[in-house]
Amino acid sequence: MIRLGGNLLLIVQKYGGTSVADKKRIMNAASRIAEAYRSGNRLVVVVSAQGSTTDELIKSAEDIDPDASGRELDMLLSTGEQQSAALMAMALKKMGLPAISLNGWQMGIVTTENHGNARIESIVTDRIENELNAGNIVIAAGFQGINEKGDITTLGRGGSDTTAVALAAALKAERCEIYTDVEGVYTADPRVVSTAEKLDSISYDEMLDFTTMGAKVLHNRSVELAKRHNVPLCVRSSFVRSDGTDVCAEDGARVVSGITSDENTALITITGMENQPGSAYGVFRLMADRGISVDIILGSGENDGEMAFTIEKSNLKAAASALKTNLRSGTIKWDDNFSKISVIGTGLESNPGVVSEIFAALAGEKINIEMITTSEIKISLLIERRDTDRAVKALHKRLVEDGK
Ligand code: ADP
Ligand code: ASP
Ligand code: MG
Repeated sequence: MIRLGGNLLLIVQKYGGTSVADKKRIMNAASRIAEAYRSGNRLVVVVSAQGSTTDELIKSAEDIDPDASGRELDMLLSTGEQQSAALMAMALKKMGLPAISLNGWQMGIVTTENHGNARIESIVTDRIENELNAGNIVIAAGFQGINEKGDITTLGRGGSDTTAVALAAALKAERCEIYTDVEGVYTADPRVVSTAEKLDSISYDEMLDFTTMGAKVLHNRSVELAKRHNVPLCVRSSFVRSDGTDVCAEDGARVVSGITSDENTALITITGMENQPGSAYGVFRLMADRGISVDIILGSGENDGEMAFTIEKSNLKAAASALKTNLRSGTIKWDDNFSKISVIGTGLESNPGVVSEIFAALAGEKINIEMITTSEIKISLLIERRDTDRAVKALHKRLVEDGK
């Protein structure tokens, strides 16, 4: 626990886009911040861009140049969070509270070079600590930093969660509270499955699987960071007063803790590849060299000349052009009309019956499974995108609701 210039606890709060979407919501968030401040806490508050601002900024960039450079895109996208931070500081000051807004570079958030998906490498906290010591509530623009060249970078969609956890770790905050538009982490996206149940707590590892497999309630790297630095993290509603979900080190005792879906998936199939040792390596080295992660893999180029694998949809252009230019043999096809559905739970390994339940649930809905991959704590299936919500609902009903 850090005590800066007194006996006050430091808390990091983060308000997402919906929670600061308009004046009314900014004032609602500001009154919660005021409450935490008045009850004797020091506060760093991270804010996201208002509502769909980031999407709109991306659209206006694409209007001018669909291939605009990452540097200029980041210059543009970072302004969304800067606006929210300034507005939130104004709202708090208007309420008579001391507040100051800071953007990424002012907070000394140093990131890797890569625009659009930079990682936080270090935070030089002097400025923030000075502001806290001066009694200010620090309003931090999320989602951004500065690279070694001195250029503004952004942390990837949803990255304000990572700003919050990174600040909590660097400042040794007591805890990090993520305020959003749902009451916590649920057994499935509550906007898709109305019967989804809120979890009181979830382990870092399970939460990592949720986020990696498509639950966008938290940014994946924020959970990685929270686990590495042991930051107590909780997800709560900014609208409803309830306990939310604690994300912590302890393991849940559930067989299945949730179902996720990821529509950001594309399938690449290569047929008629050279049948010799090293052909698979040739394909995956091309992906690795471009920083493209491969997820589900089926078949083996070295046995039957055929191989299929999934990647993130956003990497499809780069992957396809690398394969076309560099592969000496084989026909390359791709399809981005798929979704990946995952069943997550620490008890999957010790409950083999769950696997047959999964197939029964999808068979009952006549949903075809294209590919499958399993690990100790998750099972992922590739299905046609149009079946996504039906599959999630059927799996949730069979494994979570009926499985109790
Ligand atoms: P914010 O703008 O506050 O960062 P996001 O839209 O990024 O909010 O994340 C919250 C959304 O995550 C919810 O509105 C919900 O639809 C979605 N979501 C997906 N899976 C889950 C889940 N398992 N539990 C809770 N929310 C989920
Ligand atoms: N505004 C950014 C986005 O829409 C970052 C965030 O909301 O966390 O992705
Ligand atoms: Mg988010």
